[in-house]
Amino acid sequence: MQNLSLPMASIFINVLLIIIFFSKSRVNNKETKIYKYLIIIQFIESFVETFIYYIAYKSNNNIILIFLNDIVCTCYSVWTFLFFLYFIYISNFKNYEIIKKITVTLNIFLIIIIYILPIQFVNRGGVMYSYGLKAILTYIICALWITLTILSILKNYKKLNNKKYIPIFMLLIIAILILVIRIIDPSIIIIPFALTFINLIMYFTIENPDVKMLAEVNIAKEQAEKANNAKSEFLSSMSHEIRTPLNAIVGFSQALLEEDIPDSAKEEVKDIVSASETLLDLVNSILDISKIEANKIEIIEKEYSLKELFNELVSLTKARMGEKPLEFNTYYDESIPNVLYGDHVRVKQIILNLLTNSVKYTKNGHIDFKVSSFKKDDVCRLIISVEDSGIGIKKENIDKLFTKFERFDEKNTTIEGTGLGLAITKKLVELMNGKIIVQSIFGKGSKFTVIIDQKIINKVSIEPVKEKENIVKVDLSTKKVLLVDDNNLNLKVASRLLASYKFQIDTCLSGFECIDKINAKEHYDLILLDDMMPKMSGVETLQKLKVIDGFNIPVVALTANAISGMKEKYLADGFDDYLSKPIEKPELNRVIEKFLNK
Ligand code: ADP
Repeated sequence: MQNLSLPMASIFINVLLIIIFFSKSRVNNKETKIYKYLIIIQFIESFVETFIYYIAYKSNNNIILIFLNDIVCTCYSVWTFLFFLYFIYISNFKNYEIIKKITVTLNIFLIIIIYILPIQFVNRGGVMYSYGLKAILTYIICALWITLTILSILKNYKKLNNKKYIPIFMLLIIAILILVIRIIDPSIIIIPFALTFINLIMYFTIENPDVKMLAEVNIAKEQAEKANNAKSEFLSSMSHEIRTPLNAIVGFSQALLEEDIPDSAKEEVKDIVSASETLLDLVNSILDISKIEANKIEIIEKEYSLKELFNELVSLTKARMGEKPLEFNTYYDESIPNVLYGDHVRVKQIILNLLTNSVKYTKNGHIDFKVSSFKKDDVCRLIISVEDSGIGIKKENIDKLFTKFERFDEKNTTIEGTGLGLAITKKLVELMNGKIIVQSIFGKGSKFTVIIDQKIINKVSIEPVKEKENIVKVDLSTKKVLLVDDNNLNLKVASRLLASYKFQIDTCLSGFECIDKINAKEHYDLILLDDMMPKMSGVETLQKLKVIDGFNIPVVALTANAISGMKEKYLADGFDDYLSKPIEKPELNRVIEKFLNK
């Protein structure tokens, strides 16, 4: 009788494989599905093959022997076919589904023929051999699928270093071994063991993520995201809270500068202005990044003059450079159309951030600021570059440059910054479908290039902005404005801002007080109403005001919530206009002109 130890061992390994494979929950992808069938088939094959030799030894029942032999032949054909299918799948063949359909049909057809063809068994010196057309066809089928597998892999030879291709190399080596062993000692039944061994190798090469692990990773990811969101929300609400007193500091100190104060005090007030402006910039950066992360930032496009923007940026940078021994070279491509269409506020923010960085990180040498262009149809591609001879950035840090809160000059504590600027810059450039490129040599300097497309407007120039202070020329002394805000400081800042218009100002601290004043028939020409107030919001106050008999005073919403789309929301709520806090003079002029200059 043949030596049955190898088939028995393969049954044992297969049982183990099945237990391990099925006891773990797994991602149900095509790879695992094919693999599942491969181990089931191989288990049946090893079992039946062992059984055949046992039966052949015990009895000479030809019918059972033929039946079992048919099962083994089927298993071989199916196993080699699945093996082929597995490699077609992992090689990413585009028409995998079509190949699968054709080859499955072909294999079923070939297996049916196996069943029809004859087989004979002979017992030579205790070793049983099967031969006949059935066996020959089975070998042909196996050879066919293995050859096709090899061909499919040769087509994808570039991926051969992938660990998933190890089983096919093993199969080739084992096929040669089988031939050699069969010649040396035909009584050794090696095929079941060989195929099982390949299944075992595949278990380790298969892409088989553990579902449990995946679920745990997902939970951890969710928790991290939640924590991150909570942190961002906290930062954003803190910044919001900080902005109110900070606006007061900026507003009052700026106003103080206009007063007649001693020179020594003037210097200190100037420092307060500059320090509070830096702080305001920082807080605004945090708000910007949290808005970007919450997808609340929009690109608001308008007609603008890049040349004007360029000149503004140049003078801002010169002011920033102060006494630093820096050469500032500028170039502006005069062929850029006079009027472009885009978000000039964000374009300015992007370029200003690069220029500010180059001033911050360059002690001496030069800064080159260049704007060139490339036009096609109605689009102007702007190539904006800022190059400096500053401290430069290490190669390993370049990739991390656009990550928020990432700073590389820890030791250089004299340079202020948050590590937010470039993160915001990159996001803004991407929002405009542009690109930002960094080139830098550590110790020598850096070059940042931004490429953005802006629409060309065929106009000679944009309409000149109305004279900012023209409104003050009109006599408004007979007009009366009511200012409603729950924050006393805000009321003071706004009153100070409004003072230059010379109209009468009345203030109150809540919607209730405002309604009382209107009910008491006090006359006003305009109401500036803060929205975010406790107990009764601005929107609720407005609704109550509107139902008062004969109420026809224009009401303008005031809010620190300066996200895009807010204006439309307030107009839809019934407000006549909208002003965002901190109130900017040109906007205030516009509103006052609209409602009081009648
Ligand atoms: P911040 O300047 O506020 O720290 P940024 O996001 O603008 O934040 O920049 C991140 C970091 O990239 C900086 O801390 C600095 O280390 C480096 N960096 C940016 N621009 C330059 C530059 N022109 N030269 C050298 N290093 C730079």
